[in-house]
Amino acid sequence: MIINKLFDTAIVGGGVAGCSLLFTLARYTDINNIILFEKYDEVSQLNSNPKANSQTLHVGDIESNYTLDKAKKVKDSSFMIKNYIENFNEIDSVGFRSDKMLLAVGDKEIEELKTRYSEFKELYPYLELWDEEFLATFEPKLLENRKEPIMAMGARGQITTIDYKKLSESFVQQALDTNKNIQMRYNEEVTKITREEDGYYKITSDTTNFRAKSIVVNAGAYSLLFAQDMGYGEEYATLPIGGSFFFTKEKLLNSKVYTMQNPKLPFAAIHADPDCTQNWNTRFGPTAFALPKLERYHSLHIKDLIHALNIDIDVTKVYMNLFKDSTIRRYIFKNMIEEIPLVGKEVFIKDAQKVIPSLKVSDLKFAEGYGGMRPQIIDKKRQELLLGEAKISEEGIIFNMTPSPGATSSLAIAMQDTKAICNHLSKSFDLVKHQREIQMLEKNAPSAIDTIQNAV
Ligand SMILES: Cc1cc2nc3c(=O)[nH]c(=O)nc-3n(C[C@H](O)[C@H](O)[C@H](O)COP(=O)(O)OP(=O)(O)OC[C@H]3O[C@@H](n4cnc5c(N)ncnc54)[C@H](O)[C@@H]3O)c2cc1C
Repeated sequence: MIINKLFDTAIVGGGVAGCSLLFTLARYTDINNIILFEKYDEVSQLNSNPKANSQTLHVGDIESNYTLDKAKKVKDSSFMIKNYIENFNEIDSVGFRSDKMLLAVGDKEIEELKTRYSEFKELYPYLELWDEEFLATFEPKLLENRKEPIMAMGARGQITTIDYKKLSESFVQQALDTNKNIQMRYNEEVTKITREEDGYYKITSDTTNFRAKSIVVNAGAYSLLFAQDMGYGEEYATLPIGGSFFFTKEKLLNSKVYTMQNPKLPFAAIHADPDCTQNWNTRFGPTAFALPKLERYHSLHIKDLIHALNIDIDVTKVYMNLFKDSTIRRYIFKNMIEEIPLVGKEVFIKDAQKVIPSLKVSDLKFAEGYGGMRPQIIDKKRQELLLGEAKISEEGIIFNMTPSPGATSSLAIAMQDTKAICNHLSKSFDLVKHQREIQMLEKNAPSAIDTIQNAV
């Protein structure tokens, strides 16, 4: 066992974010000594587990909670995952091709869908508009007992479902297959990080100490706690939002079916997904409710929670603004009721029936052991709830906060962090090899990756 050894880079957290960084550093740089700490006995036991998230590769084409600008960024990030899966032969083991659609119900939503289609079709030329006649044979369950008109905007045969735990394992294997010194420290919880006088970092774990020239903290809900412990990111607080799911007892749909977003709501509208852990039976969700936890199915660390909530006058104002809006108030209340055993599905069924009107309460069961915690970030200075990822980048140390679509963005975030670490260590990043294997886009596609590169 190597104790007190100096590593070039230490990664804290073996979710999909930590593992994608490990892969990127090991394969595309001349950095030789890398250590990854994971407090559980396997990678991706928390949010990156397929039981915790919706298993979606967010491409931005059917997610009506994204603006066109956000969709462009997500599209390029998602292409990196798609390219990895295709180039490293992980089709049908990590990533799965299927059909997907955004469903509009009622005349108002159909008009909105048509407008969205005309705005988005240039970015996603493969998108098609599907009318009721087409849908009746393509996904018949969508029309059974349906009273209102529907229309969908969809795509066929795309990589749509990802098992992000298997993806993490594949990243680790690729890193171990290089000739670098890669240390995987499972069952080892980092308890403290300090900067030493020589500019290197001391990492204290529950068993020993290590030193590293650079660190990336990809510890999900805990990343901000580490940052604040070191005096960074005091302007942020965490709002932990739980997300649960409901199963049907059989496979009712072949496609992922997303629904139209109520623009007033901060969290994405529920969707129906064929679940790769349940024989592709249909899974509905996620719900969204505030829960005083940082990990969905593990014990509560009160001290960490209080630290993460970081409640003061600015945070209270963000909560009050959320509660002021009657739509959001109703939504929060409804989502809380959906967590109550037996009663929950009586309330949730209305959302699920928007997708499959013939669904009965008895067809649904609460997905016990499924669901995760989204560590949403509150920007205290701007008194605003941030909906995407956040990053604190300091001299040789980076902290990533990764609510949805953090799994989809993991390789793009890893690329940014790899460049920053290479700059810090005066090491080189093999951009040509990375572009060939990971970044390549569809022919003539507009690229937001160039924007990311220029910003680094
Ligand atoms: C309900 C729900 C649905 C979602 N659906 C999607 C989706 O469909 N598509 C998508 O792209 N994203 C989705 N997301 C978001 C996605 O799951 C996350 O963005 C992503 O998994 C974050 O990865 P991560 O590696 O940053 O965090 P995590 O997966 O949480 O990993 C953090 C790791 O750090 C480890 N760790 C923490 N503290 C320490 C410590 N002190 N020492 C050592 N190790 C430590 C943890 O054990 C864990 O393994 C969803 C999230 C939720 C909650």
